[in-house]
Amino acid sequence: NSTLTLSLGDEEATVELGRRLASSIIEGAVFYMHGDLGAGKTTMTRGIVQGLGHTGNVKSPTYTLVEPYELPSKSVYHFDLYRLGDPEELEFMGIRDYFAANAVCIVEWPEKGEGFIPNPDIDIYLAYEGDARTVTLKAHSERGIQVLLAISS
Ligand code: ADP
Ligand code: MG
Repeated sequence: NSTLTLSLGDEEATVELGRRLASSIIEGAVFYMHGDLGAGKTTMTRGIVQGLGHTGNVKSPTYTLVEPYELPSKSVYHFDLYRLGDPEELEFMGIRDYFAANAVCIVEWPEKGEGFIPNPDIDIYLAYEGDARTVTLKAHSERGIQVLLAISS
């Protein structure tokens, strides 16, 4: 199946799912992170980035739009497009080079860059459920399906 829904009881569960995604991630994978402010997009990104070997903090790149992590095994680019005004700014920052580099790309607020960023392998939808969260992952490519299969087994 290409859709997976899970509940995430607390912040740690969200980080842990990110770590599981990291352990089955495939070079060049693109993840879109959807959800309201505070839903947990950056928290799950932290799990992915740390799961790929980053030991420091993961903060949202709100003003710079992208935070690069050059890790020993791969490059990871974490985008947060919340403050993006005109999507043409993405052209000026050389957005295509980030996605072309066989890096893992994680994008918060991808709708703000619609038409200017490549399609995702997996859409990740985070939503409030009281104090906890639910997450739905939808794969759109063979690569995405492989990742979902790996984390659901
Ligand atoms: P976003 O990037 O979607 O705006 P953040 O990840 O920055 O959200 O913040 C999520 C906030 O919600 C954090 O303060 C975190 O402690 C809290 N939180 C509570 N429960 C969860 C959960 N299950 N998963 C993720 N964050 C949670
Ligand atoms: Mg965020």
